[in-house]
Amino acid sequence: MRVLEKAPAKINLSLDVLHKRKDGFHEVKMIMTTIDLADRVELIDLPIDEIRIVSHNRFVPDDQRNLAYQAAKLLKKRYGIKRGVSISITKTIPVAAGLAGGSSDAAATLRGLNRLWNLGLSFEQLAELGSEIGSDVAFCVYGGTALATGRGELIEHINPPPHCWVVLAKPTIGVSTADVYRNLNLNAINHPNVDGMVNAIQNGDYAQICHYMGNVLESVTLRMYPEVANIKEQMKRFGADAVLMSGSGPTVFGLVQYESRLPRVYNGLRGFCDQVFAVRMLGERNSLD
Ligand code: ATP
Repeated sequence: MRVLEKAPAKINLSLDVLHKRKDGFHEVKMIMTTIDLADRVELIDLPIDEIRIVSHNRFVPDDQRNLAYQAAKLLKKRYGIKRGVSISITKTIPVAAGLAGGSSDAAATLRGLNRLWNLGLSFEQLAELGSEIGSDVAFCVYGGTALATGRGELIEHINPPPHCWVVLAKPTIGVSTADVYRNLNLNAINHPNVDGMVNAIQNGDYAQICHYMGNVLESVTLRMYPEVANIKEQMKRFGADAVLMSGSGPTVFGLVQYESRLPRVYNGLRGFCDQVFAVRMLGERNSLD
């Protein structure tokens, strides 16, 4: 038996950090939405008690460090499953890019194993398991568009934003999320208006969505890597309606409402970055079937 799952990337339309908690995590308030840029996760049932990772990407670990491996291991342990699985990951999402690629692979593994092993678990149960693997995994289990709070694992669904295009540009650098949080000075940042963004999305107001885009982590990553600020500038110059860094970076995304404007932004960026994508905003939730 085998099952296939798509593992879509996410972007943060708004990302605020409220404070550092006693447990060391940061309390966040952010809007996440899925985009049509996805890894492919294929799961093949093994009659032996073993988890195998197959990935032909040299930046992706093929052992217990892989988040998909950790997802399978947790599910097996929690539900006493003695069968094994071969997890084959075809990466399209750039690695260490602020697009939650690893988290989405883990979430796709949870959804896929739920089907492969007929576990009958709900989204909520899978998201709960996911949050033990990483802060973004719970959101990636559901996909769609959501307000995420806590350390990112408390999910409130909201309507998808109105249709638009997303151009993504990732410079060659990889950014460590832990480093960015370590260097964040909470006393010297402008907090984005996340509630304003929720209202803008609920009202389907594209201009207001552009207006309220903001990410506190830019204050760190743009200082550490000036090329990220440069890419933001270029994306604006080539005509994106609004531009922001996703997560802890370094990927920069720009929203483009009209398809006719897309080639100029996309082609303009290809001169600056090795990885450039033009995709649709998805915003719809995953299914468990
Ligand atoms: P986030 O936006 O959630 O902070 P990210 O997009 O910045 O995540 P990932 O692509 O998930 O980062 O990769 C971060 C690190 O996780 C990589 O350096 C890699 O070694 C490790 N990793 C573990 N599993 C995976 C996976 N399935 N795909 C990619 N990277 C993985």
